[in-house]
Amino acid sequence: MGVPAPKTRRNRRRMVASQVAARGIKSRRVLASLAWVPREWFLAPHLADEAYDDAPLPIGSGQTISQPYIVALMTEALAPRRGQRILEIGTGSGYQTAVLAHLGAHVYTIERLPDLLVEAEERFRRLGLPHIGTRLGDGACGWPEAAPFDGIIVTAAAPAVPPPLTEQLAPGGRLVIPIGDLGAQELVILQRTAAELVERHAGGVRFVPLISRLAFTEGEWG
Ligand code: SAM
Repeated sequence: MGVPAPKTRRNRRRMVASQVAARGIKSRRVLASLAWVPREWFLAPHLADEAYDDAPLPIGSGQTISQPYIVALMTEALAPRRGQRILEIGTGSGYQTAVLAHLGAHVYTIERLPDLLVEAEERFRRLGLPHIGTRLGDGACGWPEAAPFDGIIVTAAAPAVPPPLTEQLAPGGRLVIPIGDLGAQELVILQRTAAELVERHAGGVRFVPLISRLAFTEGEWG
């Protein structure tokens, strides 16, 4: 991995200080990863000037790249360590994937839209990021052949946690997922302990919906 886009390094540092650290993200590793990944590489050229804005941005096909602060919040909640196996649902632009891979995680990422996945794969190659596996499909089913995972991050909102994902979470592992409908969602963090799944909440978020062939009401998934 080289040091990409030195011209925009100052913009990234400013973004990390004013949008991310200032809102309480403390992990130095997470801050350093956001300061390294060139967000403009994950956007169409006409949006490059907005790359370090404090906002989600369109990436085509009706989808969005998340706001940098939300990427940092979810990454800090996941707390991936070097060499850990992380499953990501919703590759999108690949920005969140790149942040995780730069932290040394081995990332398995699933996207349902082929055009987005092809573009993200090209970005990973260009950045020389190692240890990223990609798959086209319904991420709500997880990636059973590669399970269990030390962490699972879902970057689209579901009304409830898809059961295959909790089944594929290793002991001690964390699952980070926005839960709710299009109006109001809560960032939920589940941690698998020896006996149970411990749940905590990390505030309100707003994501595009997880589209899955699995049933989508808690009762049906119950
Ligand atoms: N993390 C992404 C990034 O950094 O650009 C942003 C992800 S975007 C908010 C949500 C993504 O989830 C979209 O690309 C969407 O196509 C994808 N998605 C929705 N439902 C999915 C599913 N069941 N399986 C896989 N991907 C899904």
